[in-house]
Amino acid sequence: KMNTDLGQHILKNPGVASAIVSKASLKQSDHVLEVGPGTGNLTVLILKAAKAVTAVEMDPRMAAELTKRVQGTPEAKRLKVLLGDVIKTELPYFDVCISNTPYQISSPLVFKLLALPHPPRCCILMFQREFAMRLFAKPGEKLYSRLSVNVQMWAKVSHVMKVGRNNFNPPPQVESNVVRIEPKNPRPQISYEEWDGLLRIAFVRKNRTLRAAFLGTSAVIELLAGNYRLWCAQNDIPVDDSPAVGEDEEADIMDIDQAINGAQEEEEAWHGFSDADDNDDDDLPDFFRQEQAKLLKKANPNRKRKGRVSELVREKIRKVLEDETELADKRARLCDEGDFLKMLYAFNQEGIHFN
Ligand code: SAM
Repeated sequence: KMNTDLGQHILKNPGVASAIVSKASLKQSDHVLEVGPGTGNLTVLILKAAKAVTAVEMDPRMAAELTKRVQGTPEAKRLKVLLGDVIKTELPYFDVCISNTPYQISSPLVFKLLALPHPPRCCILMFQREFAMRLFAKPGEKLYSRLSVNVQMWAKVSHVMKVGRNNFNPPPQVESNVVRIEPKNPRPQISYEEWDGLLRIAFVRKNRTLRAAFLGTSAVIELLAGNYRLWCAQNDIPVDDSPAVGEDEEADIMDIDQAINGAQEEEEAWHGFSDADDNDDDDLPDFFRQEQAKLLKKANPNRKRKGRVSELVREKIRKVLEDETELADKRARLCDEGDFLKMLYAFNQEGIHFN
């Protein structure tokens, strides 16, 4: 009996299984990681084409079935089955990753693969269609999101094939796609935390202008001011952080509420995109509010007063967006990798950091 909470949808069409394995262009010397081997329909094909397979499976019954399937064959000693959650498992070195991915771990799996100290040459992964399309969406396309920009920064992503739901037992709710992810080699020399930190702010509402995203809420300014204070301290740069005139705590709280409401009004005025468009890799119902709350908590754990540093940082942000990059009026949904890189560089030049 299948456990669909674990995304157990067994590939029952042997043609699709062999197409997936052949798309990996395996060499006889390759070490392959397979995520979620299930009963082993892909595993037995991979073992024929590669040197060794490490298969990580969370369900002990599936792991036992796979072990039994290869028992007594010459392949048995080239297969290692690791029992556990792949996200929490320390992975050995491997050249290629192949997976009919349990859909719950799509996003963490992609990021785990891209963050490995020695990323694989190629990953052939099956995902739910919408997730797959987010991975290779380009600026201006409906599914373009933080996930798209992030993945495309570290890898070349391409579409391999569509797979209809009736190729699985039991059939999942939605159609699937197979994608190829080839990590860039060498890896781009930028910090993942900085890059993702910038994208998190820019994509809180991807239809807003960057000016609104960065300067429209005190939560964002306070977060960046906090980072700036830290950066100054680490670099022995003295800062005057006396209270700015005329501010008080109450005003700060009002400001944040207004910013959230204001942003939502702006959102409603913008036709063609719904809330769901911003849900990115996390499928949260009110992604925006939660993201704001997170930023606020991080920026202002003790609801500290605003100081002159906040004013200085606000001015630095304005300068970066309006003068140095001229991206203030652009919306994140239309920005490409070059725009975000330009912004990150200009912010860092001003001592503004995102991690
Ligand atoms: N590879 C098989 C096939 O194509 O027929 C099964 C694929 S099925 C979509 C996903 C498999 O991943 C299931 O066997 C499930 O038990 C396993 N799984 C689910 N979550 C996992 C996790 N976090 N780590 C490792 N395996 C997981």
